[in-house]
Amino acid sequence: HRHTGKASVESIAELVATHETHPRLPDYRPLDAYRAEGGYALLAKVLDGSLAPETAMETLEASGLRGLGGAGFRSGLKWKFVRQETGPRLMAVNADEGEPGTFKDRWYLERDPHRFLEGTLIAASVSGCETCWIYLRDEYPELREVLLREIAALEEAGLTQHCRLELRRGAGAYICGEESAMLESIEGRRGYPRHKPPYPTQKGLWGRPTLIHNVETLYWVRDILEKGAEWFAGEGRHGRRGLRSFSVSGRVKEPGVKLAPAGITIRELIEEYCGGMAEGHSFKGYLPGGASGGILPASMDTVPLDFDTLQEHGCFIGSAAVVVLSDKDDIKNVVRNLMRFFEDESCGQCTPCRVGTEKAVKLLDAPQWDKPLLDELSKVMMEASICGLGQAAPNPLLCAFKYFPEEVQ
Ligand code: NAD
Ligand code: SF4
Repeated sequence: HRHTGKASVESIAELVATHETHPRLPDYRPLDAYRAEGGYALLAKVLDGSLAPETAMETLEASGLRGLGGAGFRSGLKWKFVRQETGPRLMAVNADEGEPGTFKDRWYLERDPHRFLEGTLIAASVSGCETCWIYLRDEYPELREVLLREIAALEEAGLTQHCRLELRRGAGAYICGEESAMLESIEGRRGYPRHKPPYPTQKGLWGRPTLIHNVETLYWVRDILEKGAEWFAGEGRHGRRGLRSFSVSGRVKEPGVKLAPAGITIRELIEEYCGGMAEGHSFKGYLPGGASGGILPASMDTVPLDFDTLQEHGCFIGSAAVVVLSDKDDIKNVVRNLMRFFEDESCGQCTPCRVGTEKAVKLLDAPQWDKPLLDELSKVMMEASICGLGQAAPNPLLCAFKYFPEEVQ
C-alpha cells in the first residue's frame, strides 16, 4: 500500500458527520473567525469581476511569488498558462509535504487553513479551474479533519460554487509529492512520475490542463493581492526579493518555522531567528534544502539563501528546509542516512535511480569510499533518471567530497 501511494476517495459531508474528533485537533482559526476579519471578501471581488483576472495575475507576477514547494516556478505565469488552455481545466494542490526537514505547510494549515483555502479558490477562479483536488499526506491526520470540517463549512456557505473542492489522502510515499506522480495517484494509479513535457498546465489530471500549486504558494495569494505586490517584493536581503518560510531543524536553540527575508544567510538565520546554536554545539555545516538540496560547510555562511543562488555550489534551497549540523554530527553518517532514504523512496520505475540508489548505499557502507566509482554512478543517476528524486539523490554525497574531503576520504 505504501509503495503504490494510492489515494482513497471519501465523501466530505459523510466523514464530518460520522467520524470522531481527532484528539490533537489544532487550535486553528475557523471559518466564522476568518470571515470576521475580512476573509473571503477578496474572493467575492474576484468572483463578481471587480478584481479582474488580468489584474490579479499581473499583481502576482509583480510580487515575484514563486512556487514554494521547492522549484520556484513563477506563480502568475502558471495561472496564465492554464487560463489560456481550452476548458475544462482542473486544479491540484500538493499538500504531500514529504521533503525531510520540511514542515511549513503543516504549520500554516494548523493555524490559518482558510488563508490557504481562499488562495486556492481565488487561483481556481482566475485560472478558470472547476474542480480542485487537495492531496494531503496521510501523516497529517489532524489536518485532514481540519480540512474536512472547513471545506464542509465553505460548501454550506456557498463559497465553492465556482470550484468544487475534493480532499484526497496520500499513502506515505515520498514520490507522490512529485507533481506528476501525485496526478497518477489522484487518478487512482500507482504513483509513477510522468515524463515532462507536456507539463501539467497543458496535460495534467485526466489529460486536462491542470494548475498545480504547493500549499504555501496559495497561502500568500490573499495577502499579496490585498496588500499589493510591493508588500511581498519589498522584503528580502542581499539583493533578493520576497519572504521565505524556513523550516529550521537540527542543532539550534530554537528550531521551527521562521518567516524570514529571501536571501538571508545561514549565520543571520541562526543568530537572528533561532537563538543561536544549541548549547555545546559548534556550527559545522547545513542542509539548505532538505535531503535533496546538498550540504554546505560552515565556512560558506555568506551565501544568500534563495532560489538560483546555490546552484553554482551544487545545492538548491528547494522548500527551504534548513538542517543545521554541528561538530557532533558525522558527515559520512549524514550522507549514508540520506542515500538510504532515497533508496527506500525510489519508486523503481527507472533503472538509474532504482539500482543507482541501492548501489550507492552499498558503496557508502564500505569503510573506504570509492570516489571514482561514486562519481561515475552519480553522473548516470543525475543524467538518466526520469524525475527529480534520482537526479538529486547524489547531491549530498557530491557535496561531502567537495566540502568535507578530510572527513570522507
Ligand atoms: P520543475 O522545475 O520540473 O517544475 C516546477 C513547476 O513548474 C512544476 O509545476 C512544473 O510543471 C512547472 N513547469 C516547469 N516548466 C514549465 C513550463 N515550461 N511550462 C509550464 N509549467 C512548467 O520541478 P519539480 O520537479 O516539480 O520540483 C522539484 C523541487 O521539488 C525541488 O526543488 C525539491 O526541493 C522540491 N521538493 C519538495 C518537497 C516538499 O515536501 N515540499 C518534496 C520533494 C521535493
Ligand atoms: Fe522513480 Fe527514481 Fe525514476 Fe523518479 S528517478 S521515476 S523516483 S525510479
